[in-house]
Amino acid sequence: MNRFCRVSLHLMALCCVVVSITFTSVQAKANPNAENRDIAIEQALDQLLGPGMHPLESDEFHRLLATVSDSTPVLTYVRAWGYRALELVHAERDSEAALALAEHILERALPTNSSVAIAEAYAIKAEVLAESNQRQRAISAIVDLDQWLPEVTDERVLFFAHNVAARILHQAQQFEDALVHYLAAQDAIALNDGAQTLRRRQFLNLHIARLQTELEHFDSAMELVEATLEEAKRERVFHRIPELLLLKGYLQGNLPNHGARASLATYGQTIEWAERLGDSRRQVVARNNMGSVHIQLEEYEEARAVLLEGLALAQAHGYVTEIYFIEFNLADIDVKRGNYSYGIERMQSLIATMKQADRPRDYAEMLSYLATAYRLAGRYREQAEALEELLQIRQTIFRSERDQALSELQTRFEAQEKAQQIVLLQQENEVQSQRIANASLQRLIVFLFALSVILAALMLFFAYRAAQRTNRVLSETNQDLKEQNLRDPLTQLANRRALQLALSAYTQKAPSDESAALILIDIDHFKTINDSYGHAAGDAVLTSISQRLLRFIHSDDLVVRWGGEEFVIFIPNTRSRDLQAFTRDLLALFASEPVTFEHRDIKVSATAGVVDLPLRGTTLAHCSWEQSLRLADSLLYLGKLHGRNQAHYLRGLHVPFAEVEEQLFNDFDDANSQGWLEIESIPSPVPVKR
Ligand code: GH3
Ligand code: MG
Ligand code: MG
Repeated sequence: MNRFCRVSLHLMALCCVVVSITFTSVQAKANPNAENRDIAIEQALDQLLGPGMHPLESDEFHRLLATVSDSTPVLTYVRAWGYRALELVHAERDSEAALALAEHILERALPTNSSVAIAEAYAIKAEVLAESNQRQRAISAIVDLDQWLPEVTDERVLFFAHNVAARILHQAQQFEDALVHYLAAQDAIALNDGAQTLRRRQFLNLHIARLQTELEHFDSAMELVEATLEEAKRERVFHRIPELLLLKGYLQGNLPNHGARASLATYGQTIEWAERLGDSRRQVVARNNMGSVHIQLEEYEEARAVLLEGLALAQAHGYVTEIYFIEFNLADIDVKRGNYSYGIERMQSLIATMKQADRPRDYAEMLSYLATAYRLAGRYREQAEALEELLQIRQTIFRSERDQALSELQTRFEAQEKAQQIVLLQQENEVQSQRIANASLQRLIVFLFALSVILAALMLFFAYRAAQRTNRVLSETNQDLKEQNLRDPLTQLANRRALQLALSAYTQKAPSDESAALILIDIDHFKTINDSYGHAAGDAVLTSISQRLLRFIHSDDLVVRWGGEEFVIFIPNTRSRDLQAFTRDLLALFASEPVTFEHRDIKVSATAGVVDLPLRGTTLAHCSWEQSLRLADSLLYLGKLHGRNQAHYLRGLHVPFAEVEEQLFNDFDDANSQGWLEIESIPSPVPVKR
């Protein structure tokens, strides 16, 4: 049963690829469509391309784009405006505009009957739709695309279109079709060499190997991974090596002739490479995976040591999901060592956090773990309750996902989930019946048995209905989605939920002598900005300020978008920090330079409230982070009353906390006027005139 969680964590490691298809033009050798192109513009586009799906030098790109009009030859037109559509959806997150542009490009391409232009236009449309979460429409664009692709000879378009199709079908779990497109994309670059081609091949091979892994073609996946690693080292294209090694370690754990020891050694190499390349997330995941393997081998000391290393690193970078998984593995070690009540308590508390975070899938996985822990501890009644809850949650997950999925995919998904539940229950019952000789537990056996019979009958029905379609394997974990759950879509900052997870984790772990701080910031007169310059300008201010904040904070700090135009900075350790100076600089960060939007300068300032965590003279047990944040809000309001563009810092209390607690939270202003609070006012170094 442990395998379930670990596999999903491994898969998390497998799945977190950033989409970084290089979209650089393959220099067409003998170009059959030369009359449809503007060579000068195409060469300028080649110069501009970065490693992403749209040009990085946005300003230059836009200058060039201004020269691409209706009179431009169609192939160049489709390509140039295609980049713009991708920039809209990927960088600017404006799905509506991207979609309108994609449709317009297609309308321009279709009457020309040029298969290259039409195929590229359909590929752009599919990518835009997929990125806007319209998967079904994206798939139907791929069906259209497929009709034109056989006639396409342009290598750049072939590579791009097959790649887009492969990734979308992969995400839709249509593995065989995805594989066909991946291989075609690979063919499109096979005849070329050069640095870009190598990077593309590495990227494609990694995807193909992952797909083979999901299909459980472990041998072929392994062969491809080994060959790709070998090529990466020989050709000195290093950046995919940590991901390849992570996959290799996972495959070794699944191949009988390799085994756990080999996979440990590979995770060790992953860490070395990730360190060398500065890839901290892969370092964390490799350590977690290593810990998992050690637990499987019952080497709990080694497991603990490596998990703690991973934890420290994950905390330093604020990798919330990874922290959570590693902590759970640590608790599992306690359980395995017979330290039941402590381990189970930790699991319960982590599970409670997960429940709050509204992540039912993770929650279900953790619950299955907890059920095992109860069983090991002989707490059968609680085990039964946990199993019952687990089944309910799974059904809820089915219900909500059923609404979204295509009907065919849905049936397959259900069948696999039900089959998993059967296995789960069978395992439970086997172990149970061996362990329970005691007659007083007989009733429990009957209860579990009845439960499993009813469910097994239900599940077998579903499994049978879908049996003919289920040769394709489903992977249920989509880690990218999980990450998105913790991010604000407009600014890409961490969101409120991420802060809750980080602060709950901090509260559980913080040593009593540690001091942290919270700063709540609210942009002044933001509504006026919206009213005077438009909502899009307001959005641009939020995005630009977020970028400034990310550059400004220290590496241990966490900045989140708390709500509309409010941000929170969490500083986990203030011991060697000058909080007042930091706050002053923070105010200046908003006010010293206007945000430019569509050639207009927008003046911005902000007001802030600053609190220590815990409030001086108290502990987190007495004054929680939620309460501290309420105080920060009252301090912020104080600044608004005093003219904005300033901060207030609550340095401490002149009276014991217990005596003023009630007044402090019910009537802050009154508590202040009584002279109970030691508040420092921090003016902004940059005055703002409106
Ligand atoms: P004060 O400085 O005194 O707090 O005034 P304010 O106008 O900044 O504060 P208020 O709370 O009255 O207005 C906040 C406005 O922010 C209201 C809401 O329409 C706007 N807003 C919230 N979220 C977004 C967003 O994502 N984009 C844009 N453009 N506006 C937003
Ligand atoms: Mg506000
Ligand atoms: Mg405001």
